[in-house]
Amino acid sequence: MAVDSGVSSPLGPPACEKDAKVLQFIEEMTKNMDSVQEKVLAEILTRNANTEYLQRFQVFGAVDRETFKSKIPVVTYEDLKPDIDRVANGDRSPIFSSHPITEFLTSSGTSAGERKLMPTIADELERRQKLYNLLQPVMNLYVPGLDKGKGLYFLFIKAETKTPGGLVARPVLTSYYKSEQFKKRPYDPYNVYTSPNETVLCVDYYQSMYAQMLCGLLMREEVLRVGAVFASGLLRAIRFLQLNWKQLSQDIASGTLNPRVSDPSIRKCISEMLKPNPQLAEFVVKECESENWEGIITRIWPNTKYLDVIVTGAMAQYIPLLDYYSGGLPKACTMYASSECYFGLNLKPMCKPSEVCYTIMPNMGYFEFIPHDPVNPIQLSRDSPPHLVDLADVELGKEYELVITTYAGLCRYRVGDILQVTGFHNSAPQFKFVRRKNVLLSIDSDKTDESELQTAIENATALLLPYDTTLVEYTSFADTKTIPGHYVIYWELLVKDPSNSPSDELLNQCCLAMEESLNSVYRQCRVADNSIGPLEIRVVKSGTFEELMDYAISRGASINQYKAPRCVNFTPIVELLDSRVVSVHFSQSAPHWTPERRR
Ligand code: AMP
Repeated sequence: MAVDSGVSSPLGPPACEKDAKVLQFIEEMTKNMDSVQEKVLAEILTRNANTEYLQRFQVFGAVDRETFKSKIPVVTYEDLKPDIDRVANGDRSPIFSSHPITEFLTSSGTSAGERKLMPTIADELERRQKLYNLLQPVMNLYVPGLDKGKGLYFLFIKAETKTPGGLVARPVLTSYYKSEQFKKRPYDPYNVYTSPNETVLCVDYYQSMYAQMLCGLLMREEVLRVGAVFASGLLRAIRFLQLNWKQLSQDIASGTLNPRVSDPSIRKCISEMLKPNPQLAEFVVKECESENWEGIITRIWPNTKYLDVIVTGAMAQYIPLLDYYSGGLPKACTMYASSECYFGLNLKPMCKPSEVCYTIMPNMGYFEFIPHDPVNPIQLSRDSPPHLVDLADVELGKEYELVITTYAGLCRYRVGDILQVTGFHNSAPQFKFVRRKNVLLSIDSDKTDESELQTAIENATALLLPYDTTLVEYTSFADTKTIPGHYVIYWELLVKDPSNSPSDELLNQCCLAMEESLNSVYRQCRVADNSIGPLEIRVVKSGTFEELMDYAISRGASINQYKAPRCVNFTPIVELLDSRVVSVHFSQSAPHWTPERRR
């Protein structure tokens, strides 16, 4: 029920006193966006005035935008890598930040095949927590009664490593879930999870997922929302249920926990809640043994009001499957964030996926924008820093690339995301996530770009040399019709000597050779997370890529400028390719992956 707190909010009537304060904060931030931005930049420049980075560009303690913009270059990760490597190797001098670097967050973006290392500092955790704190009060505006039940969220931590200089390197969510902020979060009746912390904090995926699913089943009537960070994560949970419902129902019937879940802290907390419940076990069997899994989410968790998963960007490919399993429940995309910095939130989280826009919170960092024109891209030179557009000056309808300056010391750093301004809340612009630059293929958190795919193709086709066979053309497709999804690479081959053509076995090896060449995030998803299936090569008839060109030209492409697309997702093209397939091949084993970085 809405409260009359005396603090009204144009966003809607707050559900409780605490929410009223949060909504008021959002109003203030979005009304005073430009002055908050000015203050944030001054704070960052003041606290980091003596860092090697700012001194290198002769900022001399200035804190104003003009000096900052005229002196500091706009950079990519590759530009910063030599300095980041120094930190990773143990240099503790204030290179980026006057506050000590506490750890590295391993981004899903890669550099030379390995995850990017993003330096972070202690108070970033509080800043991230501040953004998380905004999400529930906004959701409460649209979905009443969330304090009457629980959220079934599938949350996971991943393996962490140490850099040569001894700093921990781990994904941002692993860092957050292991933090005191998460583990000792104050009780909030609107935000109660079915998963006890112990089940989230187990690095073994099977045990963690099993325990979280079991808790979700035990509390099925109480579950009001089902979520994961990304859509792919929720679909993996459904797949897990498909593969493990028999064991889960046996545990529920007998009140004993599957011995494969050996983590003592999980066993302890589950044993406190698991009692024999033959009726529930029978229900799980009845629902899961059927061939038809349509609407399974709402059948098992009948009080689910929405799915809490990100379905924007690359995750949009999963919307049809989510709709199938949930009977079309609303899909709430609540926030937009990265390892480098958390950016903002969706003020209308129950809107349709196509209408999702994120409001960047101006207190999170200092944000600038490069106008994005794919036809005439702006040339940025390191020697004369460009004048980028401020958050206050972006224009409705235009596309921009996001550039951030953070408290942890990233200055004018290109995140690689392309955003489009779709509206405003007060004076704060709201952005649709258009895409990430240069990403060709993505199934889970992996991001494979064109040059990575090209290298993988080169390494795989080297195996064809003894067979006097060459690759004429190739393209790729992220096949997400199955769970997990997998990469499909279409190959058109020229076999010069049919009596010595590459065998099935050899083409299977080509699949693995490609996987071995892909970046570490891909290989981790494939090996440790099982969130990507074996790579598939589909060999197509000779002449297929010419047909593809004819098709593109018939739709208006220029003959002179035509290039075979390196990734396809337009259904008629995928269908054309599939109708010309002569053989299919899969990796027969998993590629190499260890948590340690290769270099
Ligand atoms: P990471 O580097 O692994 O932290 O991933 C951060 C990236 O994930 C962002 O820069 C975006 O490209 C993507 N991302 C994060 N949140 C969203 C969202 N809500 N919608 C679409 N893409 C997102």
